[in-house]
Amino acid sequence: MAKQITAIRGMNDIYGDGVDAFDYLVATAEQTLKQYGYHSIRLPIVEKTELFSRSIGEVTDIVEKEMYTFEDRSGGSLALRPEGTAGCVRAVIQNGLAHNQIQKLFYTGPMFRYERPQKGRYRQFHQFGVEVFGLATADIDAELIVLTARLWEKLGLEKLELQINSLGSQEARVDYREKLVAYLSDVKDQLDEDSIRRLETNPLRILDTKNPDMKDIVEGAPKLLNHLDEESNIHFDLLKSHLDDLGISYVVNPNLVRGLDYYNRTVFEWVTTELGAQGTVCAGGRYDGLVEQIGGKPTPAVGFAMGIERLAALLIDGDKVPAVTTPDIYVVLFGDNVERPGLVISEMVRDALPHLNVQMNCGGGSFKSQFKKADRSGAKYAIVLGEQEIADKIVALKPLRDNSEQQTVAWDNLIGHLSQLFPA
Ligand code: ATP
Ligand code: MG
Repeated sequence: MAKQITAIRGMNDIYGDGVDAFDYLVATAEQTLKQYGYHSIRLPIVEKTELFSRSIGEVTDIVEKEMYTFEDRSGGSLALRPEGTAGCVRAVIQNGLAHNQIQKLFYTGPMFRYERPQKGRYRQFHQFGVEVFGLATADIDAELIVLTARLWEKLGLEKLELQINSLGSQEARVDYREKLVAYLSDVKDQLDEDSIRRLETNPLRILDTKNPDMKDIVEGAPKLLNHLDEESNIHFDLLKSHLDDLGISYVVNPNLVRGLDYYNRTVFEWVTTELGAQGTVCAGGRYDGLVEQIGGKPTPAVGFAMGIERLAALLIDGDKVPAVTTPDIYVVLFGDNVERPGLVISEMVRDALPHLNVQMNCGGGSFKSQFKKADRSGAKYAIVLGEQEIADKIVALKPLRDNSEQQTVAWDNLIGHLSQLFPA
């Protein structure tokens, strides 16, 4: 046997229960977003590397250590997208979608980060992202949060905690940065290597450290939330009062900074305690400066991304994924030359009764083995077609889920008969 070729570490095949949960989640999210008037957008998986370094920030884990970057054959540096916002902003600018108009967009697809694979953390993972362009007020921040809350309710997910924070304006952060650097410089001997480097380049990133040894230092740091500009304070108070009006409970987490540099004002995360360390299932916030930063006209924007694998794991663990539809009818064929009438009759039923799931036995097999397959498929009825049935232009209709009698039905009456058994 030839040597097996395996998938790349951290890049998984998704099948069985996993894909059922995945599809159910994406379908429910799409349906929810459409309910709020949002539109789908499809974006490339590969972008110029520069797009990400300029938006996410040079001195972030994602750009420094996690990005899949490569040269294409013409020598340009390209990257597999590590997140969706930067590409969406690029697309909105390039296609003139952000100028003097409001865009409410959603997308889904794979993202790539060279992280240490573990439960809830993969190198290819999937996000469902939502971005809104052209709105600066707190009502849209509240709408994004309430629509995620509605999605959790539809999915039957109960134990998610909403954490919110405000990062203020870019200018307020400059003042705060000085205070933070002063505080951190005093405890420099206790900082880890990454943090010492960041003290010079991007000190706010230190607050996002995943190193448990740094926890006390981060806890003791001056809080950005206490150094906000007046307008950001008003924005944050408005958001909180909107959430109160909507009956959405939240925790203000002053240490919530997010792993990407482009955020300002509102940031939020939905967190569960049920997935261990990988507890954030949805995260986002405002990024009013980003459109301008990557070459567009100043345009306020806000968005979030859900981690599909983590939410799918919650759905599976909580047994929340509805059964994928089983066949209504399984068509059993036996004898010589039965495939052709079998195919034709199956199509006839699918044409006339499109709400039915009809599975035909392909590939032959004994009567017994076909009935075993019919039974295992979960179908409610078997249509049985043998040489005799074909000669008589009838089928045998056998109930598979109870002990009621098998019936004989003429081909001409089959549709009428089935439509009584399975009203649309
Ligand atoms: P974390 O703190 O868990 O690393 P993050 O801040 O890097 O998350 P974002 O970039 O905000 O995450 O991405 C949004 C969501 O995408 C996360 O909340 C998470 O649910 C999911 N996510 C991020 N990275 C991964 C990954 N490597 N594998 C699986 N899901 C991920
Ligand atoms: Mg991360």
